[in-house]
Amino acid sequence: MSLKPFYRKTWAEIDLTALKENVRNMKQHIGEHVHLMAVVKANAYGHGSAQVAKAALEEGASVLAVALLDEALSLRAEGIEEPILVLGAVPPEYTGIAADKRIIVTGYSVQWLKEVLGFLDGVDTPLEFHLKIDTGMGRLGCKTEEDIKEMMEMAESSSKLNCTGVFTHFATADETDTDYFNMQLNRFEELTKPLPLDRLMVHSSNSAAGLRFKKQLFNAVRFGISMYGLSPSTEIKDELPFRLREVFSLHTELSHVKTIKKGESVSYGATYTAEHDEWIGTVPVGYADGWLRRLAGTEVLIDGKRQKIAGRICMDQFMISLDEEYPVGTKVTLIGKQEDEWISVDEIAQKLQTINYEITCMISSRVPRMFLENGSIMEIRNPILPNHI
Ligand SMILES: *Cc1c(COP(=O)(O)O)cnc(C)c1O
Repeated sequence: MSLKPFYRKTWAEIDLTALKENVRNMKQHIGEHVHLMAVVKANAYGHGSAQVAKAALEEGASVLAVALLDEALSLRAEGIEEPILVLGAVPPEYTGIAADKRIIVTGYSVQWLKEVLGFLDGVDTPLEFHLKIDTGMGRLGCKTEEDIKEMMEMAESSSKLNCTGVFTHFATADETDTDYFNMQLNRFEELTKPLPLDRLMVHSSNSAAGLRFKKQLFNAVRFGISMYGLSPSTEIKDELPFRLREVFSLHTELSHVKTIKKGESVSYGATYTAEHDEWIGTVPVGYADGWLRRLAGTEVLIDGKRQKIAGRICMDQFMISLDEEYPVGTKVTLIGKQEDEWISVDEIAQKLQTINYEITCMISSRVPRMFLENGSIMEIRNPILPNHI
């Protein structure tokens, strides 16, 4: 019997053709001499980090960014040799591993850098870091001229350290009101003035800033959400310089179809009761896949038509009220297009009163990712059957 990458009829499609088009447009937008840093943290916002990283690098990205050292090491294990920056705080005791694997870390405080020096004795390659300045996000970074100066001096006087970049992060780049953004930008320009900027990678912009405000790109931009074809916020959706193409879609197939009689109920709590005889379909997706219970009452697509979820969403399954009979095996689309109908990531985000970022991240690792290019399947990843049992 031939082995398959997955044995369930549920999968997420990752449209690498769309992703590549987004990356090409972003690269064209920022210009040849500005580095495009592809942000692939959190498994590339749930899309699949190795495949997204490789596709982005092919289209002109020159640096990758992740949140954790583990994520960077996983990309190295996939054979990716390009520069990788860890945006989050790496515990000092693990920075030796980062140096060994040529992974760039974020230097965010004097204390952190002092502790790091204690762990680099046996390391051959110097630890590369980008200095993080907190200009108003209040998350990571040093805040004063003195701290920045001290960190730069420490780097210069130690053969174990190499500062190759400086950056900050905006808190409100995706909002119409730009006052706070401008305050942060001015602060960044002020605090970086004494630094040797010509030999540093200097970056401040995320997707929102990178797409909206061309003049403060410095020499690198960190693109995350826009690479996945999603707008950084609904507020600035109409301000984007080109059309983004959504990369993520989620599909399954009906596992069971039956009629229920008027007065019969469906799912836990028997909260849904048929008002007339009707067709009910069972969908093999549940909250353990990331399809949260709060999505009860929302819609999915079958045969290009919207069909409503009936009753509570279970851990592994939910039911839908069908407009007519469909055979078992009929395709069900939870996110994505069917004929002229489209359930976008933004629609699900709106239903859950959250942001699109959270939606693709929440689709769990139990859902296999299928990578497509020009409609052909390039690769399938299923973390729960990593070696195709
Ligand atoms: C996640 C992240 C980004 C990417 O932001 P998007 O809005 O997805 O483009 C950029 N910079 C930092 C520091 C981040 O943590």
